[in-house]
Amino acid sequence: MRILVTGGAGYIGSHTCILLLEAGYDIVVFDNFCNASKESISRVEKIMGKTIPLMEGDIRNKEDLNRVFERYTIDAVIHFAGLKAVGESVEKPLEYYDNNIYGTLVLCQVMAAHGCKSIVFSSSATVYGDPHTTPIREDFPLSATNPYGRSKLFIEEMLRDLYVSDKTWKIVLLRYFNPIGAHESGTIGEDPNGIPNNLLPFIAQTAIGTRACLSVFGDDYNTVDGTGVRDYIHVMDLADGHVKALDKMNTFSEVMTINLGTGKGYSVLEVLKAFEAASGKKVPYTIAPRRAGDIAECFADPAYAKAVLGWEAQRGIDEMCKDSWRWQSNNPNGYKESNS
Ligand code: NAD
Ligand code: UDP
Repeated sequence: MRILVTGGAGYIGSHTCILLLEAGYDIVVFDNFCNASKESISRVEKIMGKTIPLMEGDIRNKEDLNRVFERYTIDAVIHFAGLKAVGESVEKPLEYYDNNIYGTLVLCQVMAAHGCKSIVFSSSATVYGDPHTTPIREDFPLSATNPYGRSKLFIEEMLRDLYVSDKTWKIVLLRYFNPIGAHESGTIGEDPNGIPNNLLPFIAQTAIGTRACLSVFGDDYNTVDGTGVRDYIHVMDLADGHVKALDKMNTFSEVMTINLGTGKGYSVLEVLKAFEAASGKKVPYTIAPRRAGDIAECFADPAYAKAVLGWEAQRGIDEMCKDSWRWQSNNPNGYKESNS
């Protein structure tokens, strides 16, 4: 069975490729490298001792996608490709709607034209907006506060409409909480462009000395210590959720919508402490104003994923920080130099 992995050279995609190959799936990676490096796939090849078919192209380009479907028989698609920076999406909404929504539309059209109707889509906990209570269940109300979130919400709706129109589609919407960590080899990991927006890469770059000081965005939330609480999930656990979703999808006759989180929230200061312990480095920080659009607390109810997929996160915060640090310290400049 061959899986097309769009955005497979990116952070979550590259880790998922490993587990797909381990599970015996054939894959083909499709990426335009707007936020990734071919080096990530070379390293996955090294880890697995296998050559990975890689096709460069854009999901918005039918010809690019047709080339993939003409060359390979694709049984299912895991669709990671997209833009993901919330702040940037506010500045460049049209780019986000074009890349994420239009790109997914074109992908689905090409899939249908080639008779491939199974897709696992990367959605996000951001579709819950500011939840009234936690833990968050899949049936909670949905909303969006920025173009990135709106693009995810709209794609979910589009895929549901597609299923209503043609019940032979198999669709899984995976709502990720906060993926962090890296493969245990320390050779692949998250490699953000420029100044990281997300907490973990910022902490890791501060620990290694690339950044001077972490700004903790707000210490006056109604949480355990006043700082924001999130459900951090090891990227390898997240990747495993995709393999389990693929294994399961053919037995389902509805659109499956599934949270992938651990069910446990950690505050910014708790994560900082865990990272310091894992790295043996002091991470200087200062308290800064709240970041616009942030919510106090967000963590999953992962019960449905367990019930329906038999999936449950296995790795705790200490392992997440240890693996993030191994990747960061082995690769202080990410994929920009081959030093591991
Ligand atoms: P990433 O940027 O590392 O990976 C996305 C990949 O898609 C990159 O390799 C990029 O080059 C590629 N890409 C982007 N636009 C493309 C296009 N038009 N055509 C072909 N390739 C394209 O991001 P990631 O963290 O691995 O996230 C993967 C998916 O998961 C994204 O859809 C993201 O929105 C979603 N997600 C991520 C997080 C997170 O915190 N990382 C949380 C929730 C959801
Ligand atoms: N955060 C922070 N400083 C940073 C980046 C993030 O204090 O430099 C906080 C942020 O306010 C939130 C948590 O860390 O409470 C996780 O933020 P991230 O951007 O990683 O994920 P998201 O906001 O998308 O859940």
